[in-house]
Amino acid sequence: MVITRKVLRNVSLTAHPLGCRRHVEDQIVWVKNPKGSLYSPVPEKMPARVLVIGGSTGYGLSSRIVAAFGGGADTINVSFEREPGEKKTATPGWYNTKVFEEHARKSNLRAFSVFGDAFSDEVKERTADLIEKEFGQVDLIVYSLASPVRIDPKTGATYRSVLKPIGKPYSALSVNLDDPTITRETIEPATAEQTEETVKVMGGEDWKLWIDLLDRRNLLAEGAVTVAFSYIGPEVTYPVYREGTIGKAKEDLEKTAGVLSKTLKAYVSVNKALVTRASAVIPVVPLYMALLYAVMSEQGIHEQCTEQIWRLFTDRLYAGIPVPTDKEGRIRLDDWEMDPLIQAAVQRRWEMQREGKPLKGGNLALVRQEYDRIHGFGYKEIDYGADVDPRVV
Ligand code: NAD
Repeated sequence: MVITRKVLRNVSLTAHPLGCRRHVEDQIVWVKNPKGSLYSPVPEKMPARVLVIGGSTGYGLSSRIVAAFGGGADTINVSFEREPGEKKTATPGWYNTKVFEEHARKSNLRAFSVFGDAFSDEVKERTADLIEKEFGQVDLIVYSLASPVRIDPKTGATYRSVLKPIGKPYSALSVNLDDPTITRETIEPATAEQTEETVKVMGGEDWKLWIDLLDRRNLLAEGAVTVAFSYIGPEVTYPVYREGTIGKAKEDLEKTAGVLSKTLKAYVSVNKALVTRASAVIPVVPLYMALLYAVMSEQGIHEQCTEQIWRLFTDRLYAGIPVPTDKEGRIRLDDWEMDPLIQAAVQRRWEMQREGKPLKGGNLALVRQEYDRIHGFGYKEIDYGADVDPRVV
């Protein structure tokens, strides 16, 4: 089958196995030789047995790669994937996981995956059984789910997350990944029920269910750490992000870290805005990313997921010093993004944008390139006209 890029409203419908291989292998190569990074791991401090919930793409995949190839960890990934068929591509996470595990085996690292719904009791129990059998206990649990829907395991109710403002409509400029023309997006406010549902899906409840189960089954090692990811961003995106439905969910996640701290070392890390499968669909964010990417790459400080997670492990969680946090106890990996000079430059460029005119001073090509690469597209060396078997990565 010839696998072509198909993107509909910033959602990619296909993934290329050979490109996904390349995407994972590039990250592994970088972690083994982190060119340009000021930081290096303290080997004896790095976690040996790591569970990544949502470890097949984005920040979760990078966590798995850094833990394994930067720290020599054995890893378990839990993720939701679509298997490939003769005429159907898999999710990128399915390909990524196969490639990751192939390389882990070659490096004598143990690596397992549980494919299924991380919100369900069944997947949690299956994962706990696997930890008990293969690892005994875990030293680090990374919680990196981004999902539009959650079925409550106790009640069977289905909750859907939405990316909407609260209280009043929000209108702002935006851009589509495939078209540099500036558009205006207006988003109607969420109902109270939609806000509650978003908190149910993307808040801390499920994170706590995972930790409670692992604790009950005595699967948390002495000194175990857990980390989940949050985002704050600039004021221009507040109405749709930090003060919107997803922001309420993130506040809940951050509160949950406080609750979990009674059981283990629990952190929320506020990460940089990066194009992933989850973030590309947030209105307005692609325009912000195009401007941010331009400014940060001009300054030589643009990071991708792997570089962010590298700093999380080597400069924060496992640096051998008390973990540096802000007043609210959060780790700030968005420190370079939120630097006032960077934000002022982004703001200046934001003010230059006019509806109907081409994007000015942004780097949409870089956003688009990263988006394509996470789906295995946009690599010059790959012949995208060639016939490939989507079941083989
Ligand atoms: P992503 O879409 O790349 O990854 C999401 C992961 O969750 C995938 O592995 C997917 O398979 C898994 N998943 C989704 N639903 C699942 C389910 N029901 N069961 C099992 N696995 C499931 O997203 P990402 O951007 O890496 O986001 C991860 C976290 O980082 C989220 O909490 C997000 O809010 C946060 N974050 C993202 C950004 C950003 O700009 N991308 C910035 C800061 C924080």
